[in-house]
Amino acid sequence: VGASLEFLDPGFTALSGSGEDLSDRVKVEGEVIPYLAGEYELVYSLENQAGERIELTRTVTVEPLQVPETVQPNERTIYLTFDDGPGPYTAQLLDLLARYNVKVTFFVTCMEPDYEDMIGRAYREGHSIGIHCAEHDYYTVYASEEAFFDDFYRAQAMIYRQTGSYTRLCRFPGGSSNTVSSFNKGIMTRLTASVRNLGYQYFDWDVDSNDAGGTKTTAGIVKNVTEGCAGRRSSVVLQHDIKDYSVAAVEQIIIWGLRNGYTFRALDLSSPTAHHRIAN
Ligand code: ZN
Repeated sequence: VGASLEFLDPGFTALSGSGEDLSDRVKVEGEVIPYLAGEYELVYSLENQAGERIELTRTVTVEPLQVPETVQPNERTIYLTFDDGPGPYTAQLLDLLARYNVKVTFFVTCMEPDYEDMIGRAYREGHSIGIHCAEHDYYTVYASEEAFFDDFYRAQAMIYRQTGSYTRLCRFPGGSSNTVSSFNKGIMTRLTASVRNLGYQYFDWDVDSNDAGGTKTTAGIVKNVTEGCAGRRSSVVLQHDIKDYSVAAVEQIIIWGLRNGYTFRALDLSSPTAHHRIAN
């Protein structure tokens, strides 16, 4: 099995010596985690009329997925991205995006379970969903590789519940250039390699709305984003849909972009990554 984030058991049949179909009585034990490369064993067992247990093992190898090459868009493109949601403003953002038929990307968390269904809605409406983290706690997430992937796969499982699909897009809490992880020397160097080896593409940004920094007004967000994108062929914009003043800026950003010949797109595996220089 490879190049897939789904595992479908190829199935089995069990027949008695006299040709009776016993397939319903087969017990299957073991689990394949389709997004985690490795070897898995599935054990199929059946007790026959004589009370003997018959057992067969199937070994399933999940090959690491390949990340495709980045392709630069032909047209002037803006990739709006929203971190840390979903939250109370996500629904109104989705309404607005639907009105303009603009597709964006959400790097989501598990921090607001009441709004998690917005992830399913966003996915069905054509937006991209990526993993940000389950809990936005740098000291937990970056404590070790094991802690990072525990949190990462929790978010993946939640995305799967909401969308019926595993994602291969992600964004590190704080971005790949963060230094807040420096209490664990070199962890960003290791994690950026390991997520790609597992078939994920990570994205940073090259235009920061600064909505998590000092800019707390809608006008300020509009200015930061439009000035940041102006003159760039393609931009990956960082915003947070848990900030009302940032969500309120999106309509003006879209109008500015459309008037100036930009296309808004959701990220996919081959989109520009806007990778930062790793600092830890
Ligand atoms: Zn974040």
